[in-house]
Amino acid sequence: MSKIQAIRGMNDILPGETPVWQYLEDTVQRVLQRYSYRELRFPVLEQTQLFKRSIGEVTDIVEKEMYSFADRNGDNLSLRPEGTAGCVRAAEEHGLLYNQQQRLWYKGPMFRYERPQKGRYRQFHQIGVEAYGMAGPDIDAEVILICARLWQALGLSAHVRLELNNIGTSADRKAYGEALVSYLHRHEAALDEDSRRRLGSNPLRILDSKVPSTQAILEDAPVLADFTSAETREHFAALQALLSAACVAFTVNPRLVRGLDYYNNMVFEWITSALGAQGTVCAGGRYDGLVAQLGGRGTPAVGFAMGVERLVLLLQESGALPAALTQQLDLYIAVGDGLGAQAMVLAETLRDRLPALRVQLNCGGGKISNQLKRAFNIGATRALVLETGQDGQVQARLRHLHDDSAPQLLRCDEVADVLQGLISGA
Ligand code: ATP
Ligand code: MG
Repeated sequence: MSKIQAIRGMNDILPGETPVWQYLEDTVQRVLQRYSYRELRFPVLEQTQLFKRSIGEVTDIVEKEMYSFADRNGDNLSLRPEGTAGCVRAAEEHGLLYNQQQRLWYKGPMFRYERPQKGRYRQFHQIGVEAYGMAGPDIDAEVILICARLWQALGLSAHVRLELNNIGTSADRKAYGEALVSYLHRHEAALDEDSRRRLGSNPLRILDSKVPSTQAILEDAPVLADFTSAETREHFAALQALLSAACVAFTVNPRLVRGLDYYNNMVFEWITSALGAQGTVCAGGRYDGLVAQLGGRGTPAVGFAMGVERLVLLLQESGALPAALTQQLDLYIAVGDGLGAQAMVLAETLRDRLPALRVQLNCGGGKISNQLKRAFNIGATRALVLETGQDGQVQARLRHLHDDSAPQLLRCDEVADVLQGLISGA
């Protein structure tokens, strides 16, 4: 019979890789704790309407990337393509946003029907941060500082750069969009097909185009910054001053726009050159209109989401991973004939006494030489061989698999002390 395979673009994350994920997730979690952000968990399925209303009907995500279906009841549901909409929905539904400030974060899988390639998948993972009820540039600076501290903690600071832009209010963008469209209409014949299509639906996204001929036309296009209102310009200047005071380097990219309609005012991206075309590892901005757009009371908001797969790739490719991550096992216990019960008791004692020790007990018997081969193959640092000696006593021989030091012959009741000494001495 033919084997059933995973869905294209949806990855299995194998045990060889999960330590990197755990390291990343733990590091993020610890940094977020230091800024007193609290985790919110919400479903991967929501009503399709939630995403249409928040992300926008004429965005790529809603037009062609969502996994949407009618359930058995005929309700139109979608797998979440991003986290902000669900976060707002959940927080609003449970009264967390009413007259309050909230600092929240979430993590989990997101789903987009995109063309799979390195750094771009159909199921991918984001860790997102959202702050509600604060309108000033100080909270914008704070969420950016969280990122900067995280890159520092992960050893990635030298591999990412920060780009910022002020995209104004939605009224500013409307006025700008009209100016941009009338300029681009004059060059319509030379535009790429995607950009021509966007002329009628989502002209600002054309700024994002990677097509060289389109980029050339954009050189002389009207500039968004000339259309932004004084208030957003002041906010943006204040944010830049705060970032400079905190020694966070950035560049203003006047063409930076985001693919989701809910953003306004300040937007930002953290970009790496190490991953080819999929270089944005983290992106966000202000979205002061979204809560009201979803039926709540007007609530200022700012947030970002990072792409976990891209950060895992970056950690691997930049060599920023701690060496200890690749090491999985401290002690393999090989068990001689008839010593199963004794070995199990010893393993449990070691786990009681040395919580940091990673112990694997050989199960299923077999020749000692084969058990040792297995220990070596899975990367154990040490093996403990339990055997009955000539004198009928149980012996424990501690072997060091990664260096040439001589085996040590121990009594069973010494093993924990000796290992403790080895670990603390290491
Ligand atoms: P891109 O421009 O790369 O398509 P985006 O603007 O669609 O990204 P957002 O919706 O802002 O991305 O999502 C935030 C982050 O999530 C991205 O910067 C990226 O790191 C990650 N991300 C987005 N889509 C995918 C995907 N299909 N596969 C893997 N990671 C993704
Ligand atoms: Mg995208």
